[in-house]
Amino acid sequence: MSNSNEKKSILIVDDVPANIRILGESLKMLYKVRLATNSGKALEIAGSMNPPDLILLDIVMPGMDGYEICRRLKSSKQTKNIPVIFITAMDQEADETRGLKTGAVDYITKPFSLPIVNARIKTHLELKQHRDILENLSKIDGLTGIHNRRRFDEALEMEWHRAARIGSCLSLVMMDIDKFKNYNDTYGHTTGDDCLKQVANTLLEAVHRPTDLVARYGGEEFSCLLPHTDIAGANAIALKMVGAVEALNIPHEMSTVSDRVTISAGTSVIIPNRRTAPTQLINQADQCLYQAKKEGRNRVISSELVNPA
Ligand code: GH3
Ligand code: MG
Ligand code: MG
Repeated sequence: MSNSNEKKSILIVDDVPANIRILGESLKMLYKVRLATNSGKALEIAGSMNPPDLILLDIVMPGMDGYEICRRLKSSKQTKNIPVIFITAMDQEADETRGLKTGAVDYITKPFSLPIVNARIKTHLELKQHRDILENLSKIDGLTGIHNRRRFDEALEMEWHRAARIGSCLSLVMMDIDKFKNYNDTYGHTTGDDCLKQVANTLLEAVHRPTDLVARYGGEEFSCLLPHTDIAGANAIALKMVGAVEALNIPHEMSTVSDRVTISAGTSVIIPNRRTAPTQLINQADQCLYQAKKEGRNRVISSELVNPA
C-alpha cells in the first residue's frame, strides 16, 4: 500500500500496449503507470514489495487470460485487496458477469470514453485508500498508538514462514510492567493509562530495523518481534528496553521492586521449521518472563529453543 500523499500507481496489463496507449498517456499525468504485457510479469509486479494501487486488466491474451490472472490475484492474501478493472473488447453480458464474479471491481468495454474511465479509476482508488486506512486502524492499539495484538499475530505468522524459508533466526521479547495493579490502585486508572503510553513509546524507540515490531500484547503486556536476530541480539534489545523504562523515572511508591516503574522481560529465539510452531516461541518467552518475575522483576531472562531433529 502506498502513502496517501504519494502518487498512486496503476498497473496496465495488455499484451498489445498500443491498444491502450491513449489511456496510458492520460493516466501518466496523474499516476505512476507500469505496464505488463504478459501474465507472468503482471503477477510478479502485483506480488512485489511495491505493488500497484489498482490494476487495469485485459482479458484476451496469449497463455493465461485476464480471468485467470484476476482469479489468482484474488486468491492470494498479498494481492487480493488490489482493485482490478477489466478493460476489454469482450462486450457480452456473460463476459462482464464472469469478470465481476472473478472479483473485479469494474468492467469497461472498448471503445471507451476516456473521461468516464478516468472518473471510475479515481473512484476506485479513493475507495481503496479508505479501505487501507480502516485496515491500518484495525491494527493499532487505541490507547498507546502502537501495534495491537492482531497486527502482532499477523507479523509473527509472516516472519515465521519467512525465517523458515531462509533458515534464519526469529527472536521474541515478551514484557510485562511490574506491580502494575499496585500502580493503578495508588495513582488511579488515568495515570495508569498515561504510564502505559509512556512505556509503549519507550519500547518503540528501542528498536530501529524496519522489520522489528513492538506491540501491545494485552493489558500491561508488550511483545517485540525481532526477525534475523539471534539470542545475543535479542537479549541486548531486551536489556535496553528494561533499562529505558527504568530511566523514564515514573514514580511507583508501592512497587516492591523499585521506587519507579519497571518491567520484566522474557526472550526466546528459534530457527523455525515445519516441525515447530509460533506458539512454542511465545510459550518459551512467557516462561522466561515468568522466571524473570520470580527472580525479582526488573530483569531479562533469555533462552534459546533447540529444534527437534
Ligand atoms: P506483576 O509484577 O506480577 O506483573 O504484577 P502486576 O500487578 O503488574 O500484575 P497483575 O496481572 O496482577 O496486574 C495487571 C494490572 O494491569 C491489572 C490492571 O488493572 C492493569 N491494567 C491492564 N490493562 C490496563 C489498562 O489498559 N489501563 C490501566 N490503567 N491499567 C491496566
Ligand atoms: Mg500482566
Ligand atoms: Mg504486571
